[in-house]
Amino acid sequence: MLKFGPAGVPIGCSSSLEAPQFLKQIGLDCMELEFVRGVNMSDKTAVEVGKRAKENGITLSCHAPYWINLAAKERHKVVRSIEFITGSASKLSLAGGGVAVFHPAFYLSRNSEGVFKLVKKELEAVNGWLEDKKISNILLGPELTGKKSAFGDLPEIIMLAKEIPNVVPVVDFAHYHARHGGIIKGEKDYAVIFDAMEKELGKKAISSFHSHFSEIRYSKAGELSHMPLFSNNEPPIRPLLKLCAENGYSGTIISETPYTSEDSLRMKGIYEKMAR
Ligand SMILES: [Zn+2]
Repeated sequence: MLKFGPAGVPIGCSSSLEAPQFLKQIGLDCMELEFVRGVNMSDKTAVEVGKRAKENGITLSCHAPYWINLAAKERHKVVRSIEFITGSASKLSLAGGGVAVFHPAFYLSRNSEGVFKLVKKELEAVNGWLEDKKISNILLGPELTGKKSAFGDLPEIIMLAKEIPNVVPVVDFAHYHARHGGIIKGEKDYAVIFDAMEKELGKKAISSFHSHFSEIRYSKAGELSHMPLFSNNEPPIRPLLKLCAENGYSGTIISETPYTSEDSLRMKGIYEKMAR
């Protein structure tokens, strides 16, 4: 079973508070709270959004601010990055918990291993913070990033999840496609991703994955912009849904196209026919 829903407040809806009921009415299953430009939700609103999400059967996740770099060269930038993650996580926790997604870091001309060590150390510190605050309903979700300059390729986020408790890989299929120059052509290219997650992280990685989907424009450096479904068919959505339907993979696909909720409904419509 897959769950489908938008990144942020769906089109046609005025606020996060209204979103859960709206999503249920149009037939969607989940929503990612967007803190990408700052964590501006009050505690009271977070609790209320969570209550309404529960009442309407909507699963929540959140996306932390864009400016995170856990491997920044200046300490104050690292501290700020950690605050963005903990700030996002605490609001999501008040809303009932789920996956807190973030873009982990930039290489800044350093190699993968070096940056991995820095990111790992800071995520362990975030885990310590969660423990201190007695927050047990949050999973930390480093996202597969779309630019080649950004740390966060598939093996890197899988290894973070393997080595650090409480961490899950968040695959953004469009980002993977873009940073590898248009690699996804069909079902077998998606299978590579799911097989890698299952091999390293076990069954739970394919029975409760969290992911992002959009189509995408890209250059040699990686992502340029997210595109609506069926604009350039890069990457193609149908083989992904087919692979999940055929193998019984379960998880969440958040739509990050410009038409978030409408494209979620399109994806869900296609998937339901395949999964029948
Ligand atoms: Zn993202």
